[in-house]
Amino acid sequence: MAVIFRSISGCITSAESVLITQQSHEELYRVLRQNKQVSSSEQKVVVVSVSPQSRASLAAHYGLSSSEVARRLTSFLKNLGVHHVFDTGFSRSFSLLESQREFLERFRRKEVDKKALPMLASACPGWICYAEKTHGEFILPYISTTRSPQQMMGSLVKGYFASQKGVSPQQIYHVTVMPCYDKKLETREVDCVITSGDTYQIDSYELLGHAGSGSGGYLHHIYKHAAKQLFGVEVDELTYKTIKNKDFQEVTLEKDGQVLLRFAAVYGFRNIQNLVQKLKRGKSQYHFVEVMACPSGSLNGGGQLKPSSDQTNKELLQQVEELYHGERTSVPEQDSRVAELYQSWLESVGKEIARPLLHTQYHAVEKNTNGLSIKW
Ligand code: SF4
Repeated sequence: MAVIFRSISGCITSAESVLITQQSHEELYRVLRQNKQVSSSEQKVVVVSVSPQSRASLAAHYGLSSSEVARRLTSFLKNLGVHHVFDTGFSRSFSLLESQREFLERFRRKEVDKKALPMLASACPGWICYAEKTHGEFILPYISTTRSPQQMMGSLVKGYFASQKGVSPQQIYHVTVMPCYDKKLETREVDCVITSGDTYQIDSYELLGHAGSGSGGYLHHIYKHAAKQLFGVEVDELTYKTIKNKDFQEVTLEKDGQVLLRFAAVYGFRNIQNLVQKLKRGKSQYHFVEVMACPSGSLNGGGQLKPSSDQTNKELLQQVEELYHGERTSVPEQDSRVAELYQSWLESVGKEIARPLLHTQYHAVEKNTNGLSIKW
């Protein structure tokens, strides 16, 4: 498989960058070339983290299974000189667990804090960039502070993994393969204090996805957890109700005619605008919203591979969805690898020490700032 990655700003790549173009491979190749010219103590440790959405996109493009893509990609990258290949599905388990905990904490203080709910998901940098620039101080308190899977992976790689390897964070060169270019907007926050270890390389363990949407399954995991923890209700399957269109859906938990939980999945710019307007008018009844900038969510991200000439966008998306959802799923609460890392790195699940490492902050951005460009 001929694959060359584009590295943007030193730490972002996209599945669309799986192209043989001059510009695409410069940054990564420069680091790999340099590594061959210096002594081992001066070399960068090169780490590539691949998102499950990118794997599914590549699998559809090359007619392979998702795990076969992981195997070939790992072998290809290692032949190039990359030292470690990780799967951001692993760091997503941390994002999901922390999101579940954050939601419970917000729900319990909703009577005294009018901006505790709805909690708005924060895994989509396109949405975060728009929120910071366009709705600033009004919207920020609603946005979940939990780091996205890419940010979590950045923290894991530059912190925990670096300390395990006995190298400084600066000695690590971390490239991520993501479904959209907007993920580069998160690179301002990926340096931190935690990382995973060799045992989590995608070539050495079974790849596991997560239940729920192709955008990370935030609604699914938080809803099930909250139903159980807050109301003692065990939810097996979620029933989605289409509200305005397929990209605006709702799930409710009801008991004795009373709505206990009202969650929504809101994708695409127009639906997001409607949601924000409702919030501003005090008309939103939601407790949690999975907000994603791309119509149809992350499997349809702008950085995914394009359809072939005999294929429509819709057909390709359906194929990518099938491949993505075809993977066995992991329940973050039951994942022993995640539990081990919580113990060794954060002392225990839910401890205060985890907070600054797993959460982030947002800042209102002046509208005349030119540095960030939003692509919807
Ligand atoms: S919804 Fe689109 S912009 Fe947002 S994280 Fe997913 S692919 Fe990126």
